[in-house]
Amino acid sequence: MTNRSEELFHRAQQKIPGGVNSPVRAFRGLGITPPFITSGSGSHIRDVDGRDYIDYVGSWGPLIFGHAHPKVLEAIRRTLEHGTSFGAPTELELQMAERICDMVPSVDMVRMVNSGTEAAMSAVRLARGVTGRDAIVKFAGCYHGHADSFLIRAGSGALTLGVPDSPGVPHKLAADTLIADYNDLESVAALFATHPQRIAAAIVEPVAGNMGVVPPAPGFLQGLRRICDEHGSLLIFDEVITGFRLGRGGAQERFGVLPDLTVLGKIVGGGLPAAAYGGRRDVMEQLAPSGPIYQAGTLSGNPLAMSAGMAQLDLLEQDKPWDRLEGTSSRLESGFREIINAMGLRLAVNRVGSMMTVFFADPEVKNYSDTARAQTQRHAAFCREMLQRGVYLAPSQFEALFISVAHSEQDVERTLEAAQASLAKAFTS
Ligand code: PMP
Repeated sequence: MTNRSEELFHRAQQKIPGGVNSPVRAFRGLGITPPFITSGSGSHIRDVDGRDYIDYVGSWGPLIFGHAHPKVLEAIRRTLEHGTSFGAPTELELQMAERICDMVPSVDMVRMVNSGTEAAMSAVRLARGVTGRDAIVKFAGCYHGHADSFLIRAGSGALTLGVPDSPGVPHKLAADTLIADYNDLESVAALFATHPQRIAAAIVEPVAGNMGVVPPAPGFLQGLRRICDEHGSLLIFDEVITGFRLGRGGAQERFGVLPDLTVLGKIVGGGLPAAAYGGRRDVMEQLAPSGPIYQAGTLSGNPLAMSAGMAQLDLLEQDKPWDRLEGTSSRLESGFREIINAMGLRLAVNRVGSMMTVFFADPEVKNYSDTARAQTQRHAAFCREMLQRGVYLAPSQFEALFISVAHSEQDVERTLEAAQASLAKAFTS
């Protein structure tokens, strides 16, 4: 049997570091060659060897309506006819800004950028600029892109100063990233007490997705809001994953806590490169050219990305799909729970709306240290078997599975059948 993915991956490794343009795509955790994808339609993707998969990655979140939605494609086509980029103001950018401000409760003004990394990095610069302070609080296990200040995890406990996760991140900069524990307000209060007048902002995923899905404990987000207010620091919600997915106004609307700044990502590009950050008017007005804090971008607000993003936001406004997403997602969750219980396994299933993780860990996962108990080898065996059976999951335990509007009853049933067989295999191998 020919395996074109293997052939392509071999070639890719000669010219692209690790063969991929973003590390997790290499499927290293699973120890197999990643399928090279040729096309997607609705909830399915197809690889170069002609295999079809039910896709729960959805380009890592943005495709709430699934792949190649006709309205998104049509919007891109319409815009394309008029040119691809001007580096000058367009009406599309204005429509996007008005729409985001209308949908996201805490956002009065917004700036478009090209990636979640850029958005989070710029929001932190803005927070540092307006407060005149250098330090930030970040939570162990939360990911905010690969800018230098974010590639830091907890060293040896909550009060440890940051140490870089990656060579190339200056130690001096890492020292300004203070690491707290998710769902642990005491660890946050302790950092603020130890570093008075130094903390510009706390940045958090309001529902963590990047250590696998971890919901905020009741009162956690409210507590963060209170602590930031007490210390004159800004609260930044990174809603790259949760924005629009967990409800019209994202996690901030769902949990009723308003941040000062919000980071939005890929969802605003509808599958094309776009992201945004926005928030309080008095803070956003400090950005150049209305204020002194610099941030710029040649392709920011790119017309193609804006039209794809607007088409998806239009679909959200028309369809209001959140109840439907909740229905499909809760069927998937309860199906997994039934299988897990029937097999006598003890795995934690964490879900908020259409983001879910089955942790191969017991009994609960509430923060980054809990994730250390995950049996990653068994999880990898499970994912490999799922892939064989035509279900494409994120190739890592520490990621979310994303359900889209395009996932059908039949997709869920097929996924659960595959899950039963794959769990059996993972726990006997
Ligand atoms: N923040 C969060 C919460 C994310 O999940 C991601 C990426 N998945 C980013 C920021 C970075 O976004 P990007 O990959 O577009 O730079």
